Amino acid sequence: MGSETRYIFVTGGVVSSLGKGIVAASLGVLLKNQGVSVAIQKFDPYLNLDPGTMSPTQHGEVFVTDDGSETDLDLGHYERFIDENLSRVNNVTSGMIYWDVLNKERNGDYLGHTVQIIPHVTNAIKERITQTLDTRDSDVVITEIGGTVGDIESLPFLEAVRQFEFENRSKCIHIHVTLVPFLGPSQEFKTKPTQHSVKELREIGIHADVIVCRSPYPLSRDIKDKIALFCDVASQSVITCVDAPSIYDVPLLLQQEHFSDVVMQRLGLRHKKPDLTHWKAYLDSIRKPDLPVVKIALVGKYNQLSDSYLSVVEAIHHAAAANAVHAELVWVDAQSLEHEDPKFALSGVHGVLVPGGFGDRGIEGKIKATHLARTKLIPFFGLCLGMHIAVIEFGRFVLGWSDAHSTEFKDDTTHPVIDFLSDQRTVRRKGGTMRLGAYPCSVQPNTLLMTAYGQSVISERHRHRYEFNNQFRANYEENGMVFSGLSPENTLIEVIEIPDHPWFLACQFHPEFKSRPIKPHPLFVQFVQAANRYRATI
Ligand code: GLN
Repeated sequence: MGSETRYIFVTGGVVSSLGKGIVAASLGVLLKNQGVSVAIQKFDPYLNLDPGTMSPTQHGEVFVTDDGSETDLDLGHYERFIDENLSRVNNVTSGMIYWDVLNKERNGDYLGHTVQIIPHVTNAIKERITQTLDTRDSDVVITEIGGTVGDIESLPFLEAVRQFEFENRSKCIHIHVTLVPFLGPSQEFKTKPTQHSVKELREIGIHADVIVCRSPYPLSRDIKDKIALFCDVASQSVITCVDAPSIYDVPLLLQQEHFSDVVMQRLGLRHKKPDLTHWKAYLDSIRKPDLPVVKIALVGKYNQLSDSYLSVVEAIHHAAAANAVHAELVWVDAQSLEHEDPKFALSGVHGVLVPGGFGDRGIEGKIKATHLARTKLIPFFGLCLGMHIAVIEFGRFVLGWSDAHSTEFKDDTTHPVIDFLSDQRTVRRKGGTMRLGAYPCSVQPNTLLMTAYGQSVISERHRHRYEFNNQFRANYEENGMVFSGLSPENTLIEVIEIPDHPWFLACQFHPEFKSRPIKPHPLFVQFVQAANRYRATI
């Protein structure tokens, strides 16, 4: 543990989905851009070992890190905001903690003691607070605790944090994110939920140092003073976080409230004005008036409101900014396409994107959308499952194999053009068993892929069990498909392209995980650029 390292704990109160992750990530931006080195992690109180086996409709997207961890989507915000690659130490669940404790118990490591929440579980949690420092020393560790204060399952985490502060006095602060509702009819802000939440935190033994109030409008000095008085914090430590037009506004809004100055002061550290030039430049680029509107169809099956495709959506917007256009997302439900002509749902779109996914619901609809994009020369981008779909569509309509399929959806097809990865056939356990994380890919010359990256070896993140079946490689190549990205030993097809098309590319990996507002992903940039060109022709 770095002896001078300071610790910031971010908790949430009143309601869930307050955007604690965005507040934590924004603080990371503000600190990093004043020269403070920041480690950031999320503790999730649920019992799953990781979100990898959870439905995206329940839990949102599963974010994958370079080291192949399947993590909470907040890690995606962290990476996009602080522009650093994170790993398995940055997301800890109750499941992981109990797993460690129970394994130690089975190994006899507790030497006959009764194994209890306190001290064994809380000790295991405390070790995780400092574990990011094993890989890299940081001035500050920001730990976001998932859930809402008052939840039964977050209690061991809060107790561990209380103990950690007891052992590291004057090095810790607590930021509590709450909701201050505004009641329309009486035109007033209500501070009571915040008071109750802070009181609940105090009962656990944690004293909030800074309160970030989510609110539809800025809070007046009077309201801040009232919250300060009841919640026992300095008035300048009550920070308003108003509803923002974009998540990327939040660091700037919080800076206007002197958020990082207050935090640095509370930590006893010297503070400088953060340099947010890049950040402002990005926001300026998305706010330019009269940007052309490029419509991108996202053909998926998970509810659009569930954050299931969060990184894809973010990557499209980053790429739009880089192309000086505004991206309008057209959500197309793949399942409803199964019973209708896709030309209606896709009418007027300038690009079609088929994202990753699992299970057979909506597959035929995705194939129809891909067929339309290929034959009507609409720019097409397939991600992971999207590549499988493109391969199936080509197999059926160009090679004439009407039953071409992936064995994920039809295991007795005579043309299994997508099949298990060789090491996946015998895998039965679901969690953490896919081909996961960063792998190198060699880029073939004179391809869209080479145009995008401009280098012969790239690294991208994966999360899949199925792959292109090499048995059919020659048939595809002879009929015009180009394999532009290959695993270095040439055993796996990583990227496919169709040259007689304005832009048709699909990849086995998930480029969306590496796109950042100030470093938009080259494939998304090229796709949106092609969509914009297409827009100009129709
Ligand atoms: N279901 C497919 C597989 O497991 C694709 C996965 C994905 O899109 N992430 O290979």
